[in-house]
Amino acid sequence: MSTCLVTGGAGFLGSHLCDELLSRGHRVICVDNLETGSLQNIAHIRDPARFAHLNVDIIEPYFVEEPVDFVYHLASPASPIDYLRLPLHTLKVGSYGTHHTLGLAKAKRARFLLASTSEVYGDPQVHPQPESYWGHVNPIGPRGVYDEAKRYAEALVMAYHRQQGVDTSIIRIFNTYGPRMRPHDGRAIPTFLRQALANRPITVFGDGSQTRSFCFVSDLIAGMIALAESGHHEPVNIGNPDEFTLLQLAEEVCRAIGSDSEIVFEALPVDDPKQRRPDITLAKDLLGWVPEVPLRDGLRRTIDAAGVQSLIG
Ligand code: NAD
Repeated sequence: MSTCLVTGGAGFLGSHLCDELLSRGHRVICVDNLETGSLQNIAHIRDPARFAHLNVDIIEPYFVEEPVDFVYHLASPASPIDYLRLPLHTLKVGSYGTHHTLGLAKAKRARFLLASTSEVYGDPQVHPQPESYWGHVNPIGPRGVYDEAKRYAEALVMAYHRQQGVDTSIIRIFNTYGPRMRPHDGRAIPTFLRQALANRPITVFGDGSQTRSFCFVSDLIAGMIALAESGHHEPVNIGNPDEFTLLQLAEEVCRAIGSDSEIVFEALPVDDPKQRRPDITLAKDLLGWVPEVPLRDGLRRTIDAAGVQSLIG
């Protein structure tokens, strides 16, 4: 049994990670100040011997007494609605928060995993995106606070590894969806589900021809744990390479629900990437990881697990 510290453990991905680590027999310390997460996401975990939640803001230095074997660093506002509302907080979590969490991993001699993002590739000029691509990011646009915080955090992780000898890893997460996404978090799948379930028009940005790849949460968490438990230090993409236009996604959502919501078009957000698809060759070769849940099944599982009312919000 290992002890795993999960920052952001009361968030969407973090709470699924806590569930999976517990189900594999580990002990979990969830560090989360509930900035964008919720106690509801971890309320079902009733195992005080193996699970604890610490309401701590990681922008300030923090420490835990017990030994820790793995540190999963997920805390950060993640949806555009959150980081546009919290631009300075987002930069501070990526910088101070990552410093403090890496310092803790160093003190505990724990293996460290940074939850990075496909946003480090910006509006990519290479398609699909391999880890060797350095990206095409606008540092001063409104999304820069998130993209650059994550790029800084990656640089920090590599410096702690090279200079301080910390055993680190970096997962570059591509769009992930599943139960516990907030209906109003602004991301495409919860928005489309909420609108289609309420029989309201589905709002697609631009002409809907921009592409994304959507990974179901259980696949993502399996890849994340496999990477943390490997000895690899360089970034690894984890995401589903099946690529959809936003218009196709809206149609898939309507089909999954049996809704005949009309599709309406809204202005494209600033610096919205035109295409996004992971090259997952490295994850396949290194971890033997491939995603297993196709979009249609994942949408169905999201609706069944979350229930219609909680998706409407
Ligand atoms: P989320 O907002 O649901 O979870 C983030 C969690 O971090 C929340 O519970 C929040 O309360 C916590 N948090 C934020 N600031 C904090 C602070 N200062 N101190 C302590 N806790 C703090 O988002 P998510 O979708 O679960 O994303 C988790 C991680 O994965 C983020 O780092 C995000 O950048 C990364 N990621 C997610 C996706 C995705 O598709 N969901 C894609 C790429 C990267």
